[in-house]
Amino acid sequence: MKKITTIVSLLLIANLWASQPRKVLIIGIDGVRTDALQQANTPNLDALIASGFYTYESWHQGITVSGPSWSTIMTGVDYNKHGVTSNSYSGSNYNTYPYFTKRAKDCLPDLYQVQIVQWAPMSDNVYNDAWDQKIKVCDGCGANSVSAAQTQLQNPNLDVLFVYFDECDLTGHSTGFSPLNPAYINAIQTVDGHVGSIINSLQSRPNFVAEDWIILITTDHGGIGTGHGGNTNTERKIWWIGSGNNPVSNQFTNVVDPGSLAIGNFNPALAEGNPSQDDIAVTALDHLFRGTQCDPFNPAWNLDGQSWLDSLHVENPLGISENIMKDATIKIYPNPTSDFLTVWFENPLNTEVYPTIYDQLGNQVLDIKFISVNQNKMNIDISKLAKGSYYLNMNIDNETVTRTFVVE
Ligand SMILES: [Zn+2]
Repeated sequence: MKKITTIVSLLLIANLWASQPRKVLIIGIDGVRTDALQQANTPNLDALIASGFYTYESWHQGITVSGPSWSTIMTGVDYNKHGVTSNSYSGSNYNTYPYFTKRAKDCLPDLYQVQIVQWAPMSDNVYNDAWDQKIKVCDGCGANSVSAAQTQLQNPNLDVLFVYFDECDLTGHSTGFSPLNPAYINAIQTVDGHVGSIINSLQSRPNFVAEDWIILITTDHGGIGTGHGGNTNTERKIWWIGSGNNPVSNQFTNVVDPGSLAIGNFNPALAEGNPSQDDIAVTALDHLFRGTQCDPFNPAWNLDGQSWLDSLHVENPLGISENIMKDATIKIYPNPTSDFLTVWFENPLNTEVYPTIYDQLGNQVLDIKFISVNQNKMNIDISKLAKGSYYLNMNIDNETVTRTFVVE
């Protein structure tokens, strides 16, 4: 009985969290070298870094050109899947690997999503992206991007906003991508001011305290001389920042370079656990989908990135911490399902595995006496369960991982 009381009180807390609408702001700053960012005076980015996730060592795993890079950032997959290898966007495969905004809209049709960019190809050459508005301002017109963003941020129904700045890249191409180039540093500082204006407008939303925003800021590539597109460290070493209630609070340093698909030496094992460009879309989906019946890690999507949300603020009625870092180690499918649920998991220590299934009220509905040693997959017969949403808890090596699934 005590256990049930605990479950009910956790359920109440979970409902409080669930009442906060989850929203995403992504700010893209084209062509900012990591070392130049660290050199520049950027109080607004620093304020976000102070409380959030950040890395100055996110090694580029693909082609250091804008089209392929932004496609990876927004789809969560590398260029061998989304197909964009140049700024012409020819070969794009957005029907199979769309922007995360399409995944989000498919599951949450009421989302209102807006993109504001300066660089036309990013607007004109991308399809199947599910933006409700695609706003294009002139090249290098950061102030116009800011005012367009401020207008959008006044809309209480706004859920996803992507704002893109290209003045750092333009300055790099004209005068040099270098921390020693005052014009380039100045461009970074100017965009930092734009970021500050946008964050101020965000925090001035009438309902801001009742909303749960994640802010993700990144660049697409670095540069060398007056160009980029190659595989030098100054082109490949990039950065990103995550801020909000849920991102892992940490700086990631001494990140091992996993190599690059563009060089031909990419090593997925080395990339595991690294913060990388393809994590932005996955982290955004995880944030939007928490507390819903949507699965941000749908295996059918074949995403390359991982989520950097921490294990706090998890909404499940059992209050069991969902260890997001284990995302790669358990997958369930099909979902929704009607008769069997297949669970695939990693069990490196070959310990006993205990799966349990709970309904939305926290009642255990199936107790599967299953002991797995040297096994990675099991089929659970759920044909006797009524239609609805359920929680699967997998206890593996004394850690519990929770997944939501739907019986239809
Ligand atoms: Zn670029």
